[in-house]
Amino acid sequence: MQTRVSESLFQRAQQLLPGGVDSPVRAFRAVGGTPRFLVRGEGARIVDADGNVYIDYLGSWGPLIHGHAPPAVVEAITAAARDGTSFGAPTPREVELAELVTAAVPSVEMVRFVNSGTEATMSALRLARAATGRDTILKFDGCYHGHADGLLVKAGSGPLSLGAPDSPGVPAAMARHTLSVPYNDLAAVEAAFAAQPEAIAAVIVEPIAGNMGCVPPAEGFLAGLRALTERYGALLIFDEVITGFRVAYGGAQALYGVLPDLTCLGKVLGGGLPVGAYGGRRAVLEQMAPAGPVYQAGTLSGNPLAMAAGCAALRLLYGGDAYARLEALGARLATGLAEEAAAAGIPARVSRVGSMLTLFFTDQPVTDYESARTADTARYARFFHAMLTRGVYLPPSQFELWFVSLAHTEADVEATLAAARAAFAELR
Ligand SMILES: *Cc1c(COP(=O)(O)O)cnc(C)c1O
Repeated sequence: MQTRVSESLFQRAQQLLPGGVDSPVRAFRAVGGTPRFLVRGEGARIVDADGNVYIDYLGSWGPLIHGHAPPAVVEAITAAARDGTSFGAPTPREVELAELVTAAVPSVEMVRFVNSGTEATMSALRLARAATGRDTILKFDGCYHGHADGLLVKAGSGPLSLGAPDSPGVPAAMARHTLSVPYNDLAAVEAAFAAQPEAIAAVIVEPIAGNMGCVPPAEGFLAGLRALTERYGALLIFDEVITGFRVAYGGAQALYGVLPDLTCLGKVLGGGLPVGAYGGRRAVLEQMAPAGPVYQAGTLSGNPLAMAAGCAALRLLYGGDAYARLEALGARLATGLAEEAAAAGIPARVSRVGSMLTLFFTDQPVTDYESARTADTARYARFFHAMLTRGVYLPPSQFELWFVSLAHTEADVEATLAAARAAFAELR
């Protein structure tokens, strides 16, 4: 496989961008080698600067549930661009997207649009602190909620892949207000509340963890969080930046039937453009300025191109058989991977919910950050390159998700499994 153009672009990039990238995991540090510079995407395929074609399971880290450049989304963005790219004033498209979001997500009566998932979670925490008059946040080891100060504590894949769980530059005073306990461990949550019954403003959780690889919630975990937060007067925040519109049209809260106080959205919501959002009950959201006193703003928030992309992406998901199709493709891929690994005698566990999955190179059940870390990352790196060489683009870290899209076909999945068979054979 020829990679000369990517190598030369990476040389230039490293002179000008720290590590040659604008977001750390893109640099392939966890798997080694030269990151491919991508020039085009169409459906389930991506093309790099050397002309190599890959079946894509990165999906831009989650947004691309329709694959690359779906015509309806491209047309919506193009039409919006012709009308003007930004106004800094209200526009009809943000009302349309707000109507779609509140109709879709069971606990969301009112929503505020921002530009990224990071902005959504940091703003939701500010709102939760204002609403409760408390400062402490409880999160879970291995869950990532964006890169805001105070959330970079045991924050999953990016830091995990770099071997740096916390970041310099985060004031100790900020991190002090963040507690982190093991995922799926209700007893640890209860103990944290019991130790400081009136300190915790909110529990923030990925209802299906995705940033330590796929780790589904144990039976009763989310309902238990709902009960504990209610008992202690804290808010429950579901960070559905990945799961929103991904595992069901109403997100993980619709799938599991547990309703949080606040929901953070991003990724699929933006149809491939930069959009985040947070929402919840009317009485809570009306505390945001200018309806209430809690400040949060954005020059490009509710951007018409991004809103148009979001509306088009959601309309393609509504009704129909999108989620049944994603489930079927995801199930076939997961089952096939587990079978191929077993046939090759390679210890592996596949975790999956719908179209998000992770193949962990471990013989342990993966239920939290500790058990995820039993995975053999060196073996994953070899597997990653063995697949890349065969034209399958996986996430460049053991602790990330593979995303199946509606553009993937049964034939793509079978081709992926054939590549996996050959790759596993190489690992023995
Ligand atoms: C990606 C992600 C974020 C951050 O979103 P950005 O748009 O990258 O800022 C927050 N929470 C979760 C669960 C995510 O996966």
